Amino acid sequence: MSGVSLSESPSPRRVCIFCGSSFGTNPVYRDAAESFARLLAENGIAVVYGGASVGLMGAVADAALAAGGEVIGVLPRSMMAREIGHSGLTELHLVETLHERKAMMAELSGAFVALPGGWGTFEEMFEALSWAQIGLHRKPCALLNTDGFYDALLSFLETAVTAGFVRPESSALLLSDSDPAILLNRLRGYVAPVYDRWSGNAV
Ligand code: AMP
Repeated sequence: MSGVSLSESPSPRRVCIFCGSSFGTNPVYRDAAESFARLLAENGIAVVYGGASVGLMGAVADAALAAGGEVIGVLPRSMMAREIGHSGLTELHLVETLHERKAMMAELSGAFVALPGGWGTFEEMFEALSWAQIGLHRKPCALLNTDGFYDALLSFLETAVTAGFVRPESSALLLSDSDPAILLNRLRGYVAPVYDRWSGNAV
């Protein structure tokens, strides 16, 4: 994620969505993903995502486009076949590596939101979060916690705070809500906490 811009936008014009390349077993994941994508489009906020046409990734793109929104995809050339690049996007950037993909997605976006997904989704969100923690960007990171999908992860993150591996102040870097509209409001109202990662003191 080198070259991530430091700019902070309380009301992001482009939101980066990380989500599954699968649909998951419960249709509620797809419904919520589409609702969130539509909501962004209706609010004039572009979607930045991995450029695929499969799973929740494809559903998010289709829903935002159908609602008149802009969708920018960033896909490694090597994954064109596996993830089937979406052919109807506002922009599709083909890059060489997964690292380039994440860097470009981050540079283009004012906020990061993970919807339900698998290891790829987790990896992408945790990178954005860990970069926020050391002050490399000040953009909000959020989980759309559809049907409690992220409850166990949120509980584990509290364990990591209790165990002394994550500072209590860092918890404020990760927003979460099950309701797309509430989550969007929280993204818009986000003010990045300012503290020293190593001492925990306000700076
Ligand atoms: P998943 O959540 O595993 O279905 O994957 C969601 C997206 O994350 C897919 O577009 C994957 O190509 C992508 N992905 C998987 N691993 C990585 C990685 N290490 N870095 C960046 N993107 C990844």
